[in-house]
Amino acid sequence: MRDRIALIVAAGRGTRFGGPAPKQYLPFGDTTVLGAAAMALRPFMPVACVIHPDDRAQYEAATAGLDLLPPVFGGPDRQASVRNGLEALADEPPEHVLVHDAARPNLPAAVVRRILEALAAHDGAAPGLPVADTLKRVEDGRSVGTVSRDGLWRIQTPQGFRFPALLEAHRQAAPASFSDDTALAEAAGLHIAVVQGDARLEKVTEPGDVARLAGPDIRTGHGFDVHRLVPGESVTLCGVSIAHNMALAGHSDADVGMHALTDAILGALAEGDIGQHFPPSDPQWKGAASEVFLGHARNMVSARGARILHCDVTLVCEAPRIGPHRDAMRAELARILAIPVDRVSVKATTSERLGFTGRGEGIAAQATATLALP
Ligand code: MG
Repeated sequence: MRDRIALIVAAGRGTRFGGPAPKQYLPFGDTTVLGAAAMALRPFMPVACVIHPDDRAQYEAATAGLDLLPPVFGGPDRQASVRNGLEALADEPPEHVLVHDAARPNLPAAVVRRILEALAAHDGAAPGLPVADTLKRVEDGRSVGTVSRDGLWRIQTPQGFRFPALLEAHRQAAPASFSDDTALAEAAGLHIAVVQGDARLEKVTEPGDVARLAGPDIRTGHGFDVHRLVPGESVTLCGVSIAHNMALAGHSDADVGMHALTDAILGALAEGDIGQHFPPSDPQWKGAASEVFLGHARNMVSARGARILHCDVTLVCEAPRIGPHRDAMRAELARILAIPVDRVSVKATTSERLGFTGRGEGIAAQATATLALP
């Protein structure tokens, strides 16, 4: 006997949703809503999906590489679809089955573990959350009374059951009469434990839910730059001019810190490097303030609807000393990027007198930038 199997109910047409595709097939991070739900369960047990016959191609695309059991075709409503899924497993029945909504893509592993634990002692187990809002009975847009929320929980999925008991309950149930499997199972006399659910387990209901539940696409870019030191009177580092007996050579103002940071931001956007956007061969950038480059990268971030969450620059040199200028550098980078200064870090290190930076032949800089893309 197989230990347990998850059935993901994905046969809905999303008629209430009104989107371009059934909501379970909408993109969700680097997968789809259904793909995310399946990936959350796959580490615990084999997964089979119940799908609409018209969605076969979308299903194959959404679950490619996930190693799922063959899909089962659903029925005219959720209850019929679950029944079809259970009947498809009946020849080789598992001990337990978990029934999950495809439209709940954020399934924490801890919730699955709590359900499996509770199933050792109960016919069924479902995650739930105590109702926190005041409950009203409303008629014609008017409150006609407050309902006590004492002891009221809202129930999520996945819902786990002893497989033979749930199959039998479905076979006995009147068609299209229960909103979920706990309701159906309880009507058949099964005992259902309620375990702690999770707010992230929310169901995709409105079109805007998909982007909100998926969260931002966080990316980190890295940049590195070196400029040669030549005799001179000052260097510009991270936008701050520092008196020095040397100068940085380069076709712009040679601000290595700002160049590395510009490259880090371009890297997080996967938009090439500073040399592609500002070719050294182009005379218009000769002696240019590097603020132009960093400002350009910032504008590209805005144009993508993205945000710079944090950046971190490390300058590598024996001299000049960076410490006294660190806060001015942070303030200048924050001003150009239009982000709070507490999201900008500037650090410095020597290279222990080793290599070209140690010999004072040049200054190097490394930077990272962390961006949130929509
Ligand atoms: Mg450079």
